[in-house]
Amino acid sequence: MESALINPNELEHSRIKDPESSKEIKFLSAPALISSVPPWSLAAEIGLEPGDKILAVGEQKLRDIMDFNFHFGQSDELELLIRKANGEEIIIELEKDPDDELGVEFYTPLFNGVQECANKCPFCFIENQPYEDTRESLHLRDDDFRLSYLHGSYVTLTNLSFSDRKRIEELRPGPLYVSVHATEAEVRNLMLGRKKSKPVLEELSWLDSLDIPVHTQVVLCPEMNDGKHLLKTIEDLFNMRDKPVVSVAVVPVGLTKFHRAGLRRFTMDEAFEVVDMVQRWEAEDPSRKNFVFLSDEWFLMTHTPVPEQTYYGDYPQLEDGVGMTRLFLNEVEAELARLDCFVTDVSRNDGESKRVTWINGKISEPIVKIVAEKINYTLYNYFLNPICIDSQFWGTTNVSGLLTGNDIYQALRYIPKEMLGEKIIIPSVMLKEGRDIFLDDMSLAELEEKLGLPCVKAWGAEELIDTICKVKASH
Ligand code: SF4
Repeated sequence: MESALINPNELEHSRIKDPESSKEIKFLSAPALISSVPPWSLAAEIGLEPGDKILAVGEQKLRDIMDFNFHFGQSDELELLIRKANGEEIIIELEKDPDDELGVEFYTPLFNGVQECANKCPFCFIENQPYEDTRESLHLRDDDFRLSYLHGSYVTLTNLSFSDRKRIEELRPGPLYVSVHATEAEVRNLMLGRKKSKPVLEELSWLDSLDIPVHTQVVLCPEMNDGKHLLKTIEDLFNMRDKPVVSVAVVPVGLTKFHRAGLRRFTMDEAFEVVDMVQRWEAEDPSRKNFVFLSDEWFLMTHTPVPEQTYYGDYPQLEDGVGMTRLFLNEVEAELARLDCFVTDVSRNDGESKRVTWINGKISEPIVKIVAEKINYTLYNYFLNPICIDSQFWGTTNVSGLLTGNDIYQALRYIPKEMLGEKIIIPSVMLKEGRDIFLDDMSLAELEEKLGLPCVKAWGAEELIDTICKVKASH
């Protein structure tokens, strides 16, 4: 979410009458800024252009894309109030079929800005970073149920206004993703840095009454919500299985050298205990399968083999780092099997070994080495050289997604070019989507210039292998 796209002068307080009570529903609306108008769209037909703003659909002011879709779909004949890029305001009358879509894209799905977080979690990554050295989008502490629905972001539900609750009851957006952390009120409040909050089990029951499925997460901190508290949380959430809780992701707290709230990470022994406890709980009853998921980090930090695909079911918590490693390993196998015939016939016969370097976070090293060996065995005219690095910037052994551009530059700058090979492959997870910049604001192009070697991003096994094989291609 680019907060800079919201003009504070255009925000407008609106009210509507709540039909179920004497209360008024107050909300903040704002124009919907159009970013693109495909030539085939209804929007192009009626003369809309990028940069135009939709101020209202009929009489209805807009808060976000959910409002826009709802009001646009309500009637076959409607008026759009438009502010053109030159400031002129016009009304466009529109007749359409019930299923017609306007077909535009907006710069942001939330026209009135993002709902900020009202908590003070001691483990908050956003609170514990050097603001001047990280990109702006990392500074926003959002806790907005709309982003939970639209993008799968986790929310705590601690800042829901009367108006938000009314909307959830009306729109029933699902699934939602809820940070539970603990079901005991005292422990949860400690985790959220709050004096009080509405009991999370009550909130989940409310979502169940609306038939909204919920994925949950527990960020686990040593001596705070682990041990018997974790077991209680798992039991409580299991009692609500599918009513509305679909899954629980258990993720270890990640702390960097900038952390100031006095927490600590799990030791390897403690991490083993967590893995053992959760796995034993699951093994006690076959009906518990595919409900609680340990994130990949638990297996990587304890050097335990990652579970097979059956453990992850249909990977409901992939975005929370649950099952990415298994999925990637399986994709590599599938890709190599698919390529095996091609490789035997074409690539194995020129005798030249082309070297390519592949960067990852240190925590993934054992897995990355296995993958590189498999790739090098099959694509034996190529040599994939994995380099796994710690982050100097964050001062930790990190997952790949947290490596910065400068971390990579510092790790590679003194390695002779012939050792690095023809290019550097950067997992896309290290870059901001669509912008190709690292967490420290260094761009991929800048890294390439500094290293004097092509740096190419790759997402997933297929792109990784394609990128290795295209040794002469540039990004
Ligand atoms: S809910 Fe907690 S972790 Fe999330 S942004 Fe707010 S303070 Fe940070």
